[in-house]
Amino acid sequence: MQKFHVVIIGGGATGAALAHDLSLRGLRVTVVERGEVTSGTTGRHHGLLHSGARYAVKDQESAKECIQENMILRKIAPGSFELNNGLFVAITDEDMAYRPAFLEGLETCGIPYKEITPQEALRREPNLNPAVKAAVEVPDGTMDAMRLPLRFFATAQRNGAVIKTYTEVEELLMQGKTVTGVRVRDHVTEKTYEIGADIVVNAAGAWSGKIAAMAGVHVPLQPSPGVLVAVYGRWNNMVLNRMHRSGDGDIIVPQRTLSVIGTSSWVVEDPDRLEMKKEHIRLMYEYGAALVPAIKGAKMRAAWAAARPLIGSGGAQTGRELSRTFKCFDHAERDGVEGFVTIAGGKATTARGMAEVTADVVARKLGIDAPCRTREVVLLPHTAYYRRRW
Ligand SMILES: Cc1cc2nc3c(=O)[nH]c(=O)nc-3n(C[C@H](O)[C@H](O)[C@H](O)COP(=O)(O)OP(=O)(O)OC[C@H]3O[C@@H](n4cnc5c(N)ncnc54)[C@H](O)[C@@H]3O)c2cc1C
Repeated sequence: MQKFHVVIIGGGATGAALAHDLSLRGLRVTVVERGEVTSGTTGRHHGLLHSGARYAVKDQESAKECIQENMILRKIAPGSFELNNGLFVAITDEDMAYRPAFLEGLETCGIPYKEITPQEALRREPNLNPAVKAAVEVPDGTMDAMRLPLRFFATAQRNGAVIKTYTEVEELLMQGKTVTGVRVRDHVTEKTYEIGADIVVNAAGAWSGKIAAMAGVHVPLQPSPGVLVAVYGRWNNMVLNRMHRSGDGDIIVPQRTLSVIGTSSWVVEDPDRLEMKKEHIRLMYEYGAALVPAIKGAKMRAAWAAARPLIGSGGAQTGRELSRTFKCFDHAERDGVEGFVTIAGGKATTARGMAEVTADVVARKLGIDAPCRTREVVLLPHTAYYRRRW
């Protein structure tokens, strides 16, 4: 049986950043992913490098995490972002009433910002709704949802991590109340086999509740899907956000020659059963047109849904009421199950920080004194991921 210090379940942004962190600390790591890497939520997100401004009023813990990680990612992943900044715009009197709390939130969370006049906003974004009453620029950016995690994977691979795709965890191996590895199915050969580990980390995003249940423990995970709509045409150059409490269809991210309007939010039990809500496509157009009126006539390129892995203990109605922050669960302390850790919640933007917290827990459990180095180490380019031999 193959044996590793750590088996990471899930090849999304979180699993990628964690494999990188643990490999840099000198641990033998494997990632098992049931599909292709980033085939879960990560490969379907909006592509916003968050400044945190979106959460500056209502979810300040997450906002602070976002701005901290935004600044670190710019250093360790140069070339992965379009540093186009974001513009929060007030269109209505109601938006204007939100402005004082918004500016105060930006100050509290340490998010740099600059107010610009409506005339200047329209000069820089000619397709913006001419009714704009106020505009605030923040360090948002556009990112490629897949390429950033590939850079984490590529660097982890260079440092010895083994990435196993099309490899699904069907069972956690247990000796009494200790997790000792995983039983996986290789979806290419359809054979099952076992992998041993000192610690198994559950980084399965919206599926982490299902993985936790395999160890007989519960994590308060609430999958919360949202719909995104990509339209032909790059209607704005900066990321445009409505200046109000984050809601449906209030953000347009320019991605190459497309514009992606997002998003909606509801809650589901099973992230494998996402209903693509047609009504939400209509709403994205309607609300998106409040920011950029020309969106109304733009031809749709694609629409899709993905599930956020949010921390919540049930009872959420839409997912908007749940924080975007993350939590690391050491199941030994919490549930009396040794050798098993879950990391859940957060954003793609905060994956590195989530990995740092989790790797600290893993290192402590293994009695290893190796500090985190991921704040400084510059990542390999994403193309290096495909060169598997070194
Ligand atoms: C509509 C929407 C828009 C978003 N926009 C943004 C944005 O613009 N910017 C941002 O920073 N964040 C955004 N997010 C949040 C972000 O996408 C997620 O927080 C992040 O991608 C989660 O990454 P993850 O690695 O935790 O989960 P995932 O990417 O889902 O990875 C978990 C992986 O586990 C795998 N898995 C599941 N079960 C098993 C098993 N049994 N065995 C092996 N593998 C398994 C899955 O296949 C999956 O690939 C958005 C989310 C949504 C839903």
